[in-house]
Amino acid sequence: MADKPHQNLAIIGHVDHGKSTLVGRLLFETGSVPEHVIEQYRDEAEEKGKGGFEFAYVMDNLAEERERGLTIDIAHQEFDTDEYYFTIVDTPGHRDFVKNMITGASQADNAVLVVAADDGVQPQTQEHVFLSRTLGIGELVIAINKMDLVDYEESRYQTVIEEVKQLLEQVQFAAADTSFIPISAFEGDNVAELSDNTPWYDGQTILEALNDLPEVEPPTDAPLRLPVQDVYTISGIGTVPVGRVETGVLEPDTNVTFQPSDAGGEVKTVEMHHEEVPRAEPGDNVGFNVRGIGKDDIRRGDVCGPADDPPSVADTFQAQVVVMQHPSVITPGYTPVIHAHTAQVACTFESLDTKLDPASGDVQEDAPDYIQSGDAAVVTLRPQKPLSLEPSSEIPELGSFAVRDMGQTIAAGKVLEVEEK
Ligand code: GDP
Repeated sequence: MADKPHQNLAIIGHVDHGKSTLVGRLLFETGSVPEHVIEQYRDEAEEKGKGGFEFAYVMDNLAEERERGLTIDIAHQEFDTDEYYFTIVDTPGHRDFVKNMITGASQADNAVLVVAADDGVQPQTQEHVFLSRTLGIGELVIAINKMDLVDYEESRYQTVIEEVKQLLEQVQFAAADTSFIPISAFEGDNVAELSDNTPWYDGQTILEALNDLPEVEPPTDAPLRLPVQDVYTISGIGTVPVGRVETGVLEPDTNVTFQPSDAGGEVKTVEMHHEEVPRAEPGDNVGFNVRGIGKDDIRRGDVCGPADDPPSVADTFQAQVVVMQHPSVITPGYTPVIHAHTAQVACTFESLDTKLDPASGDVQEDAPDYIQSGDAAVVTLRPQKPLSLEPSSEIPELGSFAVRDMGQTIAAGKVLEVEEK
């Protein structure tokens, strides 16, 4: 599986519209459930005289994981098509989807939007589509699910896709690249094979649409940016920062700097999976050794970049934020914690510059007195400690953040401009 290009896939949509069932169906149809596991269940089911058990097995397993509160849930499940190897990442609403997406832990490349045919577009459908656009999801495959519940009626399918198209237009998600597919995750219609139940549909199956997604181009041409996750001291080697290359390449014999700690030196060796490598690229998790820095010179939250193109350090930064859930209102002076890449820094909302129409992005009001849940705004933030960030237009991987307060993600943001000291 691993030699195919990889994609992170999010499954989004309103609660109960069938996201877990679709994941179960995808795992089952692609043979991603180990054969011995299915065998075992088949035997048990035969003893009890039950049919249709294999798929039920996958679903039971997913449900059990959820009940046990395991972090696996439907996330981190894997399957492959002819072209790609997919990892399912968090679903919005599950734990810290937004934070994970922003800090890169589960940045999804593309998403499947599940909309139940009997229920149509619902509040979470809107919220997830809006977040997907803000957080930079590439393409959506749209599954109109539970077609069995509406007798596989084409007219109902058309009504629902019109609702979805309207929503995409509202949030300015380019609808041209999206495919719409009538499915039943439960029965398996149009997931792996075209179904006789929808003779009026001759488009792609879900697996075909996933297989046709554009390849994700790793941002190797951008300057190196590697947020530091941890710093170790290894005897005989020295100081070893570890982290994931977000953009650019990391190579031995190059000079790097760590910001905002402002320490630097020459990269001696780069290791991945305990083996020395000549070069690390975006997505690679590495440990590397830098001549001339001590363990206490750098820390988690620093960003490593080329000495001649160092990561920016914000004195203040202007950002576009979307407030998702705040119990009251946000006014200038408010100081929550910003989570960006591996950094967590308290930042003060210094000014609320403009309030935006969340759908179109047009300016609605200059210098609003406050913003609240559902609002989008351009604001200026001042980190209380040095923080390395980049404008999203230049290096998107280092240009988004989550605003956290009271254990919740209250807003998502995109950096517009960085004002350095
Ligand atoms: P999630 O909250 O979006 O993950 O939704 P689930 O996958 O847990 O599904 C919610 C309910 O809808 C469950 O009872 C499923 O069995 C049911 N369901 C999911 N897909 C289908 C489908 O295609 N047809 C029918 N009839 N029921 C479905």
